[in-house]
Amino acid sequence: MEDRGPVSLWNYSAVEADYQNGFSADGVVDVAIVGGGFTGLSTALHGAQKGLSCHVLEAEQIGYGGSGRNCGLVNAALWLPPQTVRDKLGETYGPRFIKCFGNGPEYVFSLIEKHQIQCEATRTGTIHAAHSPKGFTELEGRHAEWKRLGEPVDLLGRHEVSAMIGTDAFFGGLLDHRAGTINPMGYCRGLARAARGAGATISTGVRVVGLVKDGSLWRVETDQGTLSAKAVVLGTNAYTDDLWPDLNRVFTMIHYFQLATKPLGSSADQILPGKQGLWDTNPIMFNYRRDAFGRLLIGSMGKIVGNADFGLSQRWARKRIAKIFPALGEVEFEETWHGKIAMTPDHLPRVYELEENLFTPIGYNGRGITTGTMFGQAMADLLTGMDPVDLPLPITDLSTARHAPIMSRLYQTAFTANQVIKSIF
Ligand SMILES: Cc1cc2nc3c(=O)[nH]c(=O)nc-3n(C[C@H](O)[C@H](O)[C@H](O)COP(=O)(O)OP(=O)(O)OC[C@H]3O[C@@H](n4cnc5c(N)ncnc54)[C@H](O)[C@@H]3O)c2cc1C
Repeated sequence: MEDRGPVSLWNYSAVEADYQNGFSADGVVDVAIVGGGFTGLSTALHGAQKGLSCHVLEAEQIGYGGSGRNCGLVNAALWLPPQTVRDKLGETYGPRFIKCFGNGPEYVFSLIEKHQIQCEATRTGTIHAAHSPKGFTELEGRHAEWKRLGEPVDLLGRHEVSAMIGTDAFFGGLLDHRAGTINPMGYCRGLARAARGAGATISTGVRVVGLVKDGSLWRVETDQGTLSAKAVVLGTNAYTDDLWPDLNRVFTMIHYFQLATKPLGSSADQILPGKQGLWDTNPIMFNYRRDAFGRLLIGSMGKIVGNADFGLSQRWARKRIAKIFPALGEVEFEETWHGKIAMTPDHLPRVYELEENLFTPIGYNGRGITTGTMFGQAMADLLTGMDPVDLPLPITDLSTARHAPIMSRLYQTAFTANQVIKSIF
C-alpha cells in the first residue's frame, strides 16, 4: 500500500475519538458505501436518517483519505469563480450549483452544531490572498461576481489584509464570511459518530475488492467476506483504486502537503488573530492557518520530502516562515504529511452512475469538506426517491467521461522543483 506516512497532525490532535470496528456481513442492506471520508459518512448519516440501512466499508481508518489530511478550510462553492461555473454548467445547473454549494459552509457548521462535533470549529471566514498585483485583479473580479449574487464577501486592500493576516507579504485579499475552519479529522469522526447514532454500520480495515451485479442486488466483495446491497455509493475519490474499471482515470491525482509547528504560544498571536484560514492566488498554491493549540500549519502542492526534522520540505517551510513572519524566529516542526487530490480536466466535480444503482460523486479538485458533505446528502436524497434532475449536478455515466491526462508525475516534478527554489530564495 502506498503513502504509508503519518495520516496527519489531526489524527492525534482531534478530540473526537476514532472508531474502529471489524467487518461482519449483515444480510442485505439498502446501501453499501465504500470509503469512510466526508462523502461516504455524509451519505451514511443522511441515508440512515431517512430510514435506509447503510453499511460503510473503509479499507483503512475513518478519515484515512483526504478527509483526515486536509487543511480544514470550510470554503463556499468551488475554486472556479461563479461566472465560470455558470458558463460551464449552463443556466439550469449553474445557478443551482452555485447556490447549493455556496450554502455549503452554513450546512457543515449546522451539522457540527446539531451533533456537537468537537472539531475546533471557527466561523470567522477564510481569506484568499493575492500573491501578486495580477492576483489582486483576479480577486477584484471574484469579489464583483459574489457581490452581484448578494454574498457576504469583502475585498481587502493591502493594509487591511496585512493587519488581518500578520504580514505585509500579500497584495490584498478576499474575505469570505460564509467560510471558516475546522479540524477535519474531528469533523470526519463526528460524522461517523452521528451516522452510527442514526443507525448506520461502519466497518474499518476492510477493503472492497469486487462489485458484482446479482439480479437486482449488488454483491459487494471484500477481503473479509461479501455483503449484498440494493445500491452502492463509492466515496473513494482521489483514493480510488482498481475497484471499478477506469474510474481512477477520470481525474489527475496530485499531492498536497502540510507541516505543523509545535504550539508557538503568544509569539504567534499576530498571525491571523481572527483565526481565519488563508490560501493564495499563486497557481502553485500556498496556505497557512493556526490550529486551536497555537500551532502554525503551512503547506503547498506536492509531496513531503523528508520529515519534521530534516529534508527539503522543512527547509521550504523554514524559508517561507522566515520570509513572511520574520519576527517568529526559528520554529520547530511537530508533524508533516501529505494527501491526494483528484483534479478533473475542467475543475468541476462529477456524479457518475456507473451502472444501475451504483453511484459515485468524485473529483472535488481540493475542495471537499462542503462538497463531500453536500454530495453525501444528495446521494441519500437520490436513493430515497429524489428525481435525479433535481440534483445539483447532472448525473452522467462513465462513457461520457474524458480521461484526465496522466500528468501526476509531471506535476510532482514541478511541485518538488517549486519547493527546491522556495527553500533557497
Ligand atoms: C492535503 C490536503 C489539503 C486539503 N485541504 C482542503 C481544505 O482545506 N478544504 C477542503 O474543503 N478540502 C480540502 N482538501 C480536499 C478534501 O480533503 C477532499 O476533497 C475530501 O476529503 C474528499 O473526501 P471523500 O470522502 O470524497 O474522499 P476521501 O476522504 O479521500 O476518502 C476516500 C476513502 O476511501 C477509502 N477507499 C478507497 N478505496 C477503497 C476500497 N476499495 N475499499 C474500501 N475503502 C476504500 C480510502 O481508504 C479513503 O479513506 C484537501 C485535500 C488534501 C489532500
